[in-house]
Amino acid sequence: MTTNQQKKVSAAGKTEVINVVHCPRRIEFGHEDPKERIKHFGDFTRPLTDEQIQEQSRRCLHCGTPFCSSNCPLHNRPVDFNALVRAGRWHEAWECLNSTSSFPEFTSRVCPAICEVGCTQYYLNDEAVGIKTIERAIIDRAWRAGWVKPEIATHKSGKRVAVVGSGPAGLSCAQQLARVGHNVTVFEKAARPGGLLRYGISDFKLEKDVVDRRIEQMQAEGVKFECGVAVGDLKFPNGVQCTAKKSVTAQSLIKEFDAVVLACGSETPRDLPVPGREGAGVHFALELLVGQNRVVAGEVKATNVSSAGCDVVVVGGGDTGSDCVGIARRQGAGKVYQIDLMPKPPVKEDKQATWPNWPVKLRESTSHEEGCDRLWETSTKEIVRDKNGAVTAVKCVKLKWTFADGKRSCTEVPGSEFEIACQRVYLAMGFTQPSANVLAAFGVDKDGRGNAKAALENGAAPFATSVQGVFACGDVRSGQSLVVRAMSEGRRCARAVDVYLTGGTELPEYRL
Ligand SMILES: Cc1cc2nc3c(=O)[nH]c(=O)nc-3n(C[C@H](O)[C@H](O)[C@H](O)COP(=O)(O)OP(=O)(O)OC[C@H]3O[C@@H](n4cnc5c(N)ncnc54)[C@H](O)[C@@H]3O)c2cc1C
Repeated sequence: MTTNQQKKVSAAGKTEVINVVHCPRRIEFGHEDPKERIKHFGDFTRPLTDEQIQEQSRRCLHCGTPFCSSNCPLHNRPVDFNALVRAGRWHEAWECLNSTSSFPEFTSRVCPAICEVGCTQYYLNDEAVGIKTIERAIIDRAWRAGWVKPEIATHKSGKRVAVVGSGPAGLSCAQQLARVGHNVTVFEKAARPGGLLRYGISDFKLEKDVVDRRIEQMQAEGVKFECGVAVGDLKFPNGVQCTAKKSVTAQSLIKEFDAVVLACGSETPRDLPVPGREGAGVHFALELLVGQNRVVAGEVKATNVSSAGCDVVVVGGGDTGSDCVGIARRQGAGKVYQIDLMPKPPVKEDKQATWPNWPVKLRESTSHEEGCDRLWETSTKEIVRDKNGAVTAVKCVKLKWTFADGKRSCTEVPGSEFEIACQRVYLAMGFTQPSANVLAAFGVDKDGRGNAKAALENGAAPFATSVQGVFACGDVRSGQSLVVRAMSEGRRCARAVDVYLTGGTELPEYRL
C-alpha cells in the first residue's frame, strides 16, 4: 500500500484499499527575519526539505487541461515534473524542466509565477501548488548533483551569429544557437554578461554566482562574450547605464556575421517632468540598483547613490520601485515611501472574472515587509529643494479615478496637496522604449511604441526585423516585460534564426 492509499471497510463489510487525494496546505520558502536580512544584500530564502517539496508536488491535481503550462511563456510542464518529483525521480524531473526552459534557476527565483495563478488549486482554495518552489528545488539539485553539463554541438554549421545584449533573451537565444552548431558571439556594453539579471535585479532576489555558473556553461558550449563593447555608438539616451568605452558599428556586424539578433532590452527610463527634477538626490531607479549591484559584485568600491541616513520617496508602484525600497532599506534609509498613481487594488480578486489570467490584486513584496509606506492615488507635483539644490521634500496631490465607457481617467482632488519630507527620490516609473541609437544604427523599423518591429508569428520569418538577417527578441521587441517572457522569446527567436541560416531546425517547437 502506498502513502496515498488507505484501507476502508465498505458498507458490505469488505475491506478495500482506496486512493486518497492527499491535499496538504501550500508551503512557501522560509524567509530570514526582516530585521536580520536587511543587514545584508544576499539571498534570504530558506529552502524546504525534499519531503516538503514532494508533499507540495502531491498537491498537483494533474489537470487534463493544465492552465499552469499554457500560462507559462515557456510552456513549462508542471503537471509532468510534479509527478516525477512526487515519485522521487528527480533526474527525470530536471530533464523535463530542461526540455522547455533554458535557465530555471533564474525564473525559480525571480518569476512572478504566472503558472501558479492558472493552477486549479488556486482557483479552488487560493493555494496554488508551489510550482516555483518545486522548480527551484529541481534545478538547484541538478546543479549540486552535476547534472547540468555543457551540451556541446556534435557538428559545426560554419555560420556566425552576433547577439547584441546578454540579458535573458540574448542568453537563451545564444545558448540554443550554439547547441545546434552555430558560432555565436554575444556583444554586451556592460562589464559582465547577464543584462538586468546581473545589474538590475538585486542580489537579495538573485545572487550573481547563479548567473556566473550559467555563463561558464555557455562558454564551454562555445559561446563567446565580448563585454564592455557597445554596438552602434556610445550615445545612449539620458538614464541608460553604459560603462563601455569601446563600440563596434552595426554595419561591421552585418558584414561579418551571417545573422544578427538584437536582444538589447528596453532601457530608456520614463522621466518625471516636474519642477525640481534636477535636484541633487533625484535619481533614476537603475542608478541606485546598478550602482549597488556593482558594489556587491566588487566591481566598484562605492556607489554614487546612497540612501544611508536619508528619508526616501520611490516614485512608481511597480516591481522596480519595490526593488528600490529593498535596496534603500539595506543601505540604511530612514522612512521609505512608495507612491503610485493608481488606486489600491483589491486584496482578493473575483476569480470568476479573472481565472486563469493574471489578476490585478494587492501584492506585497518582501521589500514592502521590510518597512515601507505605500501611498495610492498620489501624483508628484514638484520636488522641493534647499538653496543648495538638494532635495528636501516631494509635493504631492491626491487623485480621483473614474471608470466610464471602458475608459479610465483621473483628476486631482482640490485641496489635497501635501508634502513628504525626504532627501532622496528614486524614479521607478517604467521604461518607455529601447535605446533609439541602437535601432537607428541598424536602420530597423520601429513599432508605434518605439520598439524594434518584428512579429512573433510571421509566417516563415518570425522575429525578423525590416533589415534582412537582423532579428529582434525580448524587451527590445516587446517593451519591458518579464525574465520568463524574454527567455521564451530568445528560444523561439533562435529557432527562427536557425531556419533562416540552414533552411530547417531541430530546435524544439514552441507548442503545448
Ligand atoms: C529593476 C528591475 C527588476 C526586475 N525584476 C524582475 C523580476 O523580479 N522578475 C521578472 O520576471 N522580471 C523582472 N524585471 C524585468 C526583466 O528583468 C526584463 O524583462 C528582462 O531582463 C528583459 O530581458 P532582455 O534580455 O530582453 O533585456 P535586458 O535584460 O535588459 O538585457 C539587455 C542587455 O543589452 C545590453 N545592451 C543594450 N544596448 C546595447 C548595445 N548597443 N550594445 C551592447 N549591449 C547592449 C544591455 O546592457 C543589457 O545587458 C525587472 C526589471 C528591472 C528594471
